[in-house]
Formats: sequence, structure tokens, C-alpha cells
Amino acid sequence: MALPVDRRPHRPPTGARLAALLCAGLLAAGVSRTAQAEWVTRITDGIMGTRITVELWADDPKDAQSAIDAVLDEMRHIDDSMSTYKPSSEVSNVNAHAADGPMPISQELFDLLETARHYSELTEGAFDITYASVGYLYDFRKRVRPTDSQIAAALPAVNYEHVLLDREHRTVAFSRKGVRIDLGGIAKGYAVDCGIDILKARGFTRAYVGAGGDSRIIGDRFGKPWVVGIRDPRKGPDDVITRVPLVNAAISTSGDYERFFDEGGQRYHHIIDPHTGHSASRVRSTTVIGPEATRTDGLSKTAFVLGPEKAMEIYNRIDDIDAIIVELDGSVLYSKGMRPAADRAAPAAAGP
Ligand code: ADP
Ligand code: MG
Repeated sequence: MALPVDRRPHRPPTGARLAALLCAGLLAAGVSRTAQAEWVTRITDGIMGTRITVELWADDPKDAQSAIDAVLDEMRHIDDSMSTYKPSSEVSNVNAHAADGPMPISQELFDLLETARHYSELTEGAFDITYASVGYLYDFRKRVRPTDSQIAAALPAVNYEHVLLDREHRTVAFSRKGVRIDLGGIAKGYAVDCGIDILKARGFTRAYVGAGGDSRIIGDRFGKPWVVGIRDPRKGPDDVITRVPLVNAAISTSGDYERFFDEGGQRYHHIIDPHTGHSASRVRSTTVIGPEATRTDGLSKTAFVLGPEKAMEIYNRIDDIDAIIVELDGSVLYSKGMRPAADRAAPAAAGP
């Protein structure tokens, strides 16, 4: 997917501003609309520990509200089933018992565990839901981190291959004690995709669903793209390094500024290197753009662990994926599909 990049400074879209931009676009395009048709936006905090934004174009505001209710219900369901903060969740139950032997799980969780495994393979182990075997020892809000000896003791349990999936019997087992999983690196993207599916099934053709760093868009804004700002990792939430116009696409950003604390000149943050058990600090942020948010979420942690060059090599290998990486020195790398055509072209043959 090749996207033109506009480098003019711009704040990321808030619901209200997107609506305002849209209205301007509508007037400019001279689009006629029915009397009641309008953009409807709802912003909800506290589901999946983050802010959920749903915005859609609706002929009937009542249909819009009921569709948004359905999207939020779906997200609450995913949170209830997959949060490790909820002792009653299915994932907490798996963490408590899967080391004792194969246990049956829901089709939905099974499918997402298979998807997670696929992203572990694709990212050469950078994405690994068993990071949680060490990750649970961190509490970024309370500035708590494990000691080196705690990390060393827990680290052997980090390896996605410890999660044994049996499709025929729909069971999961852990191959050893001490393994914990956490779907925090993919569940929001998955929830966004589920929300979009609900809106599509109800006939909506222009909508935005966002959960924290993961968003997906269907349709355009009446001849104009949606515009998503990418934050400067070392400035405030409204400072944007670039903005990306999107139509029918998902976008996920991972940053070392999301959940972190600084101590002794070092930043401890929420993306963990499965090989070391320490925060993965080889870039400041990565944005991945692709067709579905489950996929972009599964890929947005890669550069933190593998470094910008290796991660870009992986992104460039996947046809419908693009990426923007902010390196440690603040410079910005773009994947092949986002560079101007002249940069992508093969060098011209020598000769007249
Ligand atoms: P957000 O939660 O805002 O969507 P990210 O997509 O960057 O942020 O995901 C970060 C989360 O991913 C962490 O809070 C943690 O739950 C999980 N995580 C951390 N390290 C890894 C890893 N190496 N592989 C998979 N998931 C991880
Ligand atoms: Mg995410």
C-alpha cells in the first residue's frame, strides 16, 4: 500500500476535529445528504484499559447509537475474556491451569492464540505472548521492575513454543511451569477488527474504530481520506511528526512513551524483549499500516526487539504492510511502499 505522506505539522485527529474536517470536505465536495444523516462520535474510557473511539456516518442517529453500543459490548466481552487483570477471565484461567495439561478453551481464544503464534513466527520471536512470564513482574505505574536474578529465574518460561495448541480438541497446554501469556500486544487490534465487522454487518460504509494505539477505518470521508497523526515520541500527545491519510486501512502505533518510568537514566517500558526479559529499547516508536488491526498490532512491537533494519526488512517482505519507525536518534524510517516512487525505483542501467 503506497500512501502519500504529508509532513505539514498537524495534530492527530480527535473525534470533534475529524467531524469538522469532514463537514468542510462535504461542503467543498458539494455532497448532498439526507436531512438526518450525520457523523456520530462516541469516546469511552476504561474498556481494555484504554480509550475507545467510534465514529461513523449514519443516516439515522438511532441506528448509529445502537451500532456503537454493540461495538462497545463486543469490546467488553473481549476484555472480560482476555484481560490478565481480571482473575475470572479465560486467559487468567489458562495461566492458572495450562501447565497441568491440555485444557479446552473457547474457539475465539483458540483462534487468537493461533494468530499470535503466527506473528511470533513472522517476527522471528519478537512478538511473543509468553513475554508475560517475566512481564508480570513489572508494574510501570508503581515503578516496579524485577531484579536481574528474578528475570534470570523467569526467563526460561518465555518462548511461544511453550504454548501447545491442539486444534482438533481445541485445547491449550503449557509445556512447563512458570509460563504465562498476555494478549495485550494483539487483543486491542483484534477488538478493533471485531468492532469494524459489526459496523460493516450493519451496513455502515464510513467509520473509524480506535482502541488506544490501534485503529481501523472503513471508507473515506466523502472523497477525502481520514488523516491519522503519528506522535513525536519525545513530545506531547498533540505534537505530530507526520500524518497519514488512510482509506480502508488499519494502523497501530507502539511507543516507549505509553507505559514507562525512567530510573537511573534508563527507560523501563511496557514492550519486553522475549530474549532478555528487559524493556526492548531499539527504537522509540513504530507505526504499522495494513488491512486489519489484528495484523498491524501483531507487527508493531517488532522493531523494538529486532531493531529498525531487521524489522523493516520483515515489513518490506509483506506486500500489504507499511511502516514508519522513529529511531533512537529521532530520525524517521519509511517502508518501501511509503517512499516516493523515485526512491523505490531500481537504479537506472548505465549507458546512453
Ligand atoms: P497498546 O497496548 O497501546 O496497543 P502495544 O500495541 O505497543 O500498545 O502493545 C504493548 C503491549 O504488548 C504491552 O503492554 C504488553 O501487554 C504486550 N507486550 C509487551 N512485550 C511484548 C512482546 N514482546 N510480544 C508480545 N506482546 C508484548
Ligand atoms: Mg496495540
